[in-house]
Amino acid sequence: MDLTSNYIRAIKSFEQIDIAVLVNNIILDAVHQKASDIHIEPWESTIPIRLRVSGILCELTHLPHELLDRISGRLKVMADLTTYETELPQEGRAPASPDYANVELRVSIFPTVRGEKIVIRLFDPNNRSFNLESLGFESGTIDEFRKIINQPSGLILLNGPTGSGKTTAIYSALCHLIESHGPTISISTVEDPVEFNLPMISQSQVSNSRGFTYPKALRSLMRQDPEVIMIGEIRDPDTAAIAVQAGLTGHMVISTIHSDSTAGVFARLINMKIEPFLLASSITGVLGLRLLRTICSNCKTETKPNPEHLTQLPESFVNETTFYTGIGCESCSQTGYHGRVAVTEFLNTNEILREGIIQKLRTSKLRNIAIEQGMTTLWQNAIAKVQRGVTSLEEVIRIITVNQL
Ligand SMILES: [Zn+2]
Repeated sequence: MDLTSNYIRAIKSFEQIDIAVLVNNIILDAVHQKASDIHIEPWESTIPIRLRVSGILCELTHLPHELLDRISGRLKVMADLTTYETELPQEGRAPASPDYANVELRVSIFPTVRGEKIVIRLFDPNNRSFNLESLGFESGTIDEFRKIINQPSGLILLNGPTGSGKTTAIYSALCHLIESHGPTISISTVEDPVEFNLPMISQSQVSNSRGFTYPKALRSLMRQDPEVIMIGEIRDPDTAAIAVQAGLTGHMVISTIHSDSTAGVFARLINMKIEPFLLASSITGVLGLRLLRTICSNCKTETKPNPEHLTQLPESFVNETTFYTGIGCESCSQTGYHGRVAVTEFLNTNEILREGIIQKLRTSKLRNIAIEQGMTTLWQNAIAKVQRGVTSLEEVIRIITVNQL
């Protein structure tokens, strides 16, 4: 039984609730379940408290409506927000506290017609090291990725939706560089927000409200003599231009960018007014990334997948494969899954692909060239994990959309 439900059960009336204890209990439950976010949202008759665990929202408990204003008031105090403001969105950070397992909170409050919707993102700010080998990358990907991060210059891009493991992969790459070079390498980051504090790396957090934007931070950072620069995300033309320039002038730059596919990052950057020849000469590789839930080893069972799903697979693959799923048990909270593993697609910007980028070829053409040049796709790598019984076919179909086939 979770702390929150236990606490609610133990009190006689809602007037007796110590709101600080209730909020701490919700956070402790989230930390215990390894959740990334807490959703507190007014529905018609209750406020469900939901946790995002391994990328999926699950219910922790339901609370009565009369507690919503007190919970939001408490979180506003913790995150230093305006307590009487209920009509406008607000965002803030609450520092880590031993009262709630030393996690840092990023609180976002959004007005809805039924009251304020609250989403809390949890961060573990403790010094932590990250390991490239433990991400579960395919061996081909890890070799190529290691090769390009060890080059003295160039721009490396990671691509995938929110929550696909991009930050963890970048932090692991930076930790790998620190391990191999020690104090002889200068690494700086500009992030929004800093998610973990890394040893021997200068990390800065942009603040748009104070005018400390990505472009401003990066222009100053270039005068700080860094060898490696990590940019949290490229999302505007100015940041894109500086990232490309830095990659061309003797810096190793690593960043993330949103686009609908790995090969689509070139079109995205051309839309940001970057000249194709600059992209072709600066970008050394693009890593597409997704996370797949792994089948719970405790309740793993052979299964016959949905026949409709099977039509997407080659017949020989279906004949040779034993499909598995998790039927749900106590140790996986009846989800059938336990933990996640990365699935990747590594696009190496070689000579032939560079030619295609300069010619502004369509994304599908660039993708075909990459495949001809030996790129194993997200889909191929994912179904290999199905064949090894690591994940289920349903999970692959849930995460990898058809245009990535
Ligand atoms: Zn299980």
